[in-house]
Order: sequence, then C-alpha cells, then structure tokens
Amino acid sequence: MTDERTDVAIIGAGPVGLFAVFECGMLGMRCHVIDALDQAGGQCAALYPEKPIYDIPGHPRLEAAALIDRLTEQAAPFAPAYRLGRPVERMEPLPGGGFRVATAAGAVTAGAVIIAAGVGAFGPNRPPLAGIESFEGSSVFYLVTRRDSFRGKRVVIAGGGDSAVDWALSLAEVADRVMVVHRRAKFRAAPDSAARLERLAAAGAIELVIPYQLHALDGADGRLEAVIVADLAGGTRRLEADVLLPFFGLAQDLGPVASWGLALERQRVTVDPATCMTSTPGIFAIGDVAAYPGKLKLILTGFAEAALAAHAIHPLLHPGEPLHFEYSTTKGVPGR
Ligand SMILES: Cc1cc2nc3c(=O)[nH]c(=O)nc-3n(C[C@H](O)[C@H](O)[C@H](O)COP(=O)(O)OP(=O)(O)OC[C@H]3O[C@@H](n4cnc5c(N)ncnc54)[C@H](O)[C@@H]3O)c2cc1C
Repeated sequence: MTDERTDVAIIGAGPVGLFAVFECGMLGMRCHVIDALDQAGGQCAALYPEKPIYDIPGHPRLEAAALIDRLTEQAAPFAPAYRLGRPVERMEPLPGGGFRVATAAGAVTAGAVIIAAGVGAFGPNRPPLAGIESFEGSSVFYLVTRRDSFRGKRVVIAGGGDSAVDWALSLAEVADRVMVVHRRAKFRAAPDSAARLERLAAAGAIELVIPYQLHALDGADGRLEAVIVADLAGGTRRLEADVLLPFFGLAQDLGPVASWGLALERQRVTVDPATCMTSTPGIFAIGDVAAYPGKLKLILTGFAEAALAAHAIHPLLHPGEPLHFEYSTTKGVPGR
C-alpha cells in the first residue's frame, strides 16, 4: 500500500480540525483530515448534535450539527481528503523532513501535522450492570442524537450532572414518562437547570428517583422492560421503562497521541501559544487537545489556534517564500 501525500495532515475532524482545513487552504496548503470516528464533527456531531451553541461569534444560536455542516461547507473549496473511521496509531518523522501518519488502513505523509484530537478517543463511562452490552443501541443509549426517537417512551435517565438534567428537561416534553435516578439528593447541574428540574418534579412532569443508583436491567433480546435501582441500604425498586440513558460523563483517553514523544501536561499536548507548535518542530496541536497557560477549551479559541498554526506552518513548507498577510475580504476564497 503506497502512502498518500499531502501538505498538512490534520488528526481529528472535530470543529477545530475542520476549520484548520480552511485556514491552511487560504494559504495554499492541501490537507488530509483523519478521524477515528465514521463521521466528521468530533464532540459536536457525536455528543450533542441537536444542542444549540450560543457562543459561536456571529451566530447567536446554532445547533451543533449545523455548525459542523457549515464548517464542512467552508472547507469544501479546498477539497480536503477525509479519511474517516481510521484511528491514527503511529506518527513518525521522515528522514528527509515531514512526517508519516499511519492508520491500520493506510498512511499519509505530510510536511506538517496538526493534532486536533480533542479529548482523544472518547467514549461513555459505562455503568457496571450485568448484560448491559446486549441492550446498547436498542434500549440503552449514552447520548441523544435525535430527541424525537424517545417520543412516547418511558425513559430512565441516570446521573446528576448537566447532561442528565438537561436531557430530563428536554425529554419531558416528548417522552411518556421521565425518571431521573441519582445517588444524591442534590444535582451538580447549572443552578437554573437544577431549579427547573425541581419545579417539573414538583409538578409531576418528571419523577426524581433519589437517592438511588442503578442496580440491574430486566428485559430480553435487547428490549428493556425495567431498570432495577437500589438505595444505599440495599432496598430495590423496579422502574418499568423502555429506555435507559446513563449519563456518567466521558471516558477520555489521549490514546496513541500520548506515545509520540511530545511534551504533555495532564493528558493534553503542550504548545507555544504564539504558534501552537508542540515540542517537536513541524507538529502542531490546536483545539481541546492543546495546552498552554490560560487555555480556554472553547470552539472559538480553537478556531483562532487554527489560524495561528496555519500561519506558522506556511514558512516551514515554503521556506524563503514571503507570506503576505491578507484578509479574506481582500483575497476571496480561491475556487469559490
Ligand atoms: C455537551 C457539550 C456541550 C458543549 N457546549 C459547548 C459550547 O456551547 N461552546 C463551546 O465553545 N464548546 C462547547 N463544548 C466543547 C466543544 O465541543 C469542544 O471544545 C470542541 O468539540 C473541541 O473541538 P476539537 O475539534 O478540538 O475536538 P473534538 O470535537 O473533540 O474532535 C476531536 C476529534 O479527534 C478525533 N481523534 C482523537 N484521537 C484520534 C486519533 N488517534 N486518530 C484519529 N482521530 C482521533 C476524535 O474522534 C474526534 O472526532 C461542549 C462540549 C460538550 C460535550
């Protein structure tokens, strides 16, 4: 299998990796974008596609899936090659300069690499319930990609944080019944949301099952019939239910990125904030995965980092070639 060649290999097709295609493209650099997931969009697409985001500049309210659509559209004139469903396993420097980024399904060689790997490979924290795998995807879901698929269902939500509370509030509008199981009486969600939850519970629109924790699942052939919960003294209760949504946070694993010899701090890649270059010249990190003093893990921060990285990469790939800073209004978008 021969390696594919490109100017910049971007690891991660989250919002920040997608915007890096645009920024590199505006400076005439071609990109390959490689992601472990089958779809582009990172956390926005995988975890909260229907949630509105309120802090994207110029968009007072934009659903996460729509943001990804627009970023993909913005990147399209630069014809990025997407290699999805391919976790990057290895990255090594090439003797003559540049890097080889390898997946099980093939490798890309590039003059520079941008790591936009977010929180790394992410997946749900699974509750330790016997046989839960047989219900996953049919009755047990770790995220809600389409709220309407729970219309008319009896839904048990487990957890005490923002996701549990936000989805309880939202699904109460469409589900037949919403029960929230939490092992404490107090919820860790935003105070406004927790207060709304209490109000809906008082009005009988949501049932709070507290303090209880998940104990067992009852059902067959992937169809849930009931969730059994236990209190701290071991007493159990049976909640008749069609669906269980456990929201116990994300298991995050920087994965192979951690073994590429880059300076790291707390599961993130240390960068120079002026350029987003890592401890290895030619390798850059942007978005959630990048660490520097004062870093804010926001999409808008990642967008600015993409611009910094692209401008720092250009002289590496085109030494001696002057790079005149130009606004997009002056330059337009090549190919559009
Ligand atoms: C519920 C929720 C609500 C949020 N709300 C907001 C908000 O309102 N405003 C805001 O600014 N931010 C919000 N965020 C945070 C925002 O989603 C992140 O800051 C953003 O997704 C970071 O983008 P990214 O491109 O850096 O990384 P990610 O979106 O995490 O994408 C990284 C991609 O890299 C891929 N990857 C990782 N390792 C590898 C590997 N080895 N090989 C190949 N691919 C790999 C992953 O599969 C993933 O697709 C929210 C997050 C959550 C969970």
